[in-house]
Amino acid sequence: MVIGIDDTDSREGMCTTYLCALLRDELSSFAQVISEPILVRLNPTIPYKTRGNAAVALFIEFEDKDKVIRHVTNKISSMACLDNENTNPGVVFVEERMFDAARDELSSFFKRAVKDVITIDEAKELASRLGLEFRAFKNGRGLIGALSACGAMLDLKWDHTYEYLAYREKEVWGTKRVVDDSSIFEADRQTYPDTWDTVDLVNNMIVCVPHSGDPVLYGIRGKGAASVEKAASFVVSEPVERICVYRTNQGTDMHLIPVSSISEIEEMHSYILEGEVCSEPVTIRGGHTIFTLKDAAGDIIDCAAFEPTKNFRELVRKLIPDDRVIVYGSVTENTLNIEKIKVIKLAKEYDIRNPSCPSCGKRMKSAGSEQGYRCKKCGTSSEIPEKTEIKRDVLPGFYEVPPCARRHLAKQLLRFENEELPVFHGR
Ligand code: ATP
Repeated sequence: MVIGIDDTDSREGMCTTYLCALLRDELSSFAQVISEPILVRLNPTIPYKTRGNAAVALFIEFEDKDKVIRHVTNKISSMACLDNENTNPGVVFVEERMFDAARDELSSFFKRAVKDVITIDEAKELASRLGLEFRAFKNGRGLIGALSACGAMLDLKWDHTYEYLAYREKEVWGTKRVVDDSSIFEADRQTYPDTWDTVDLVNNMIVCVPHSGDPVLYGIRGKGAASVEKAASFVVSEPVERICVYRTNQGTDMHLIPVSSISEIEEMHSYILEGEVCSEPVTIRGGHTIFTLKDAAGDIIDCAAFEPTKNFRELVRKLIPDDRVIVYGSVTENTLNIEKIKVIKLAKEYDIRNPSCPSCGKRMKSAGSEQGYRCKKCGTSSEIPEKTEIKRDVLPGFYEVPPCARRHLAKQLLRFENEELPVFHGR
């Protein structure tokens, strides 16, 4: 049976992945857990999310179905943050005899939930139509993620990575985490590039240790279960209550929809879009750098490198009108939040000055608006300013935000192969 679960946590505590790890360990005493649990990240723009819009699924074999369902449902009832108005758990049980009939629809539902916006009614309708056993707590929004996680488990044909999550002992939840920073840097040194986003070397930050009140102590991401386990073996920290290695769609760009025009863009979706820079990048209050991008039809959209993207903004500030780029990111409030950018073709940049007088060699003065230039002393005039091409301080290439600003679903440049342009890893 596949069990999908979502929406059990709140900002004050808990974490759906912790519940999954706990259930995996508890169910092991009377059922057999098959394969790694699944941790999927769904549409990153969904406003109801607590943090990273995660949902989980377990695959188990058992003797006593009712005992399993009772155990899982009771655990969710007792552990979910049900008092929180934004916590609406959902759990779905897909029995083995339903796998073939449910696989295609659940798999498509999963892929849609990563890219699109789905209603609670759609989720309830699908679960009922497929005849699945499910439980919706409160408004049941968690059913959307729970069904998606089941779809991901039933059809494993999607690009994937792994995450090793270590959880804290309950007594210390909400307190400062005790992790030896140097051991984390060592874990990265020993396993990068098979693991990634553990640290951010440019910004000298530890990325894999969260700061929120949830039970996660740290999470190591990488290309295989063995790589993330190896990295974790170097970490020196406070006692770990339990660990779990998940197969995940993190770092896959599964959320991105390629489009050829801005007119196709909708709010709360994520895109790959090519166009020309059509305004000088400006840095507004708060440190966010924004420029306008124009497509072939002349439509425009604001593209932003927000303050948390740190040094990535320096690259964006070097762009000028007519540069040709491909932007990757989510659209909310009519602005595309850049996760990656491919600078395909650089426009020529000129230093424009008043021309020199052919007689005395001094710079001419402006003769007034749109009236060219004149040398007062010699009386010579010219219509054309002096243009000297300047060497651009940026190279064509593929650039990404640094690890400290990475979104869960964003594919790291180190995971791309055979790129024609130079790749500039943010690290
Ligand atoms: P954490 O990362 O700490 O586990 P979270 O960020 O996963 O928390 P949830 O508490 O799971 O946040 O809340 C997200 C809610 O949004 C869930 O109820 C989920 O079912 C729903 N949801 C997920 N994807 C979509 C989607 N594409 N359309 C509509 N609702 C969605």
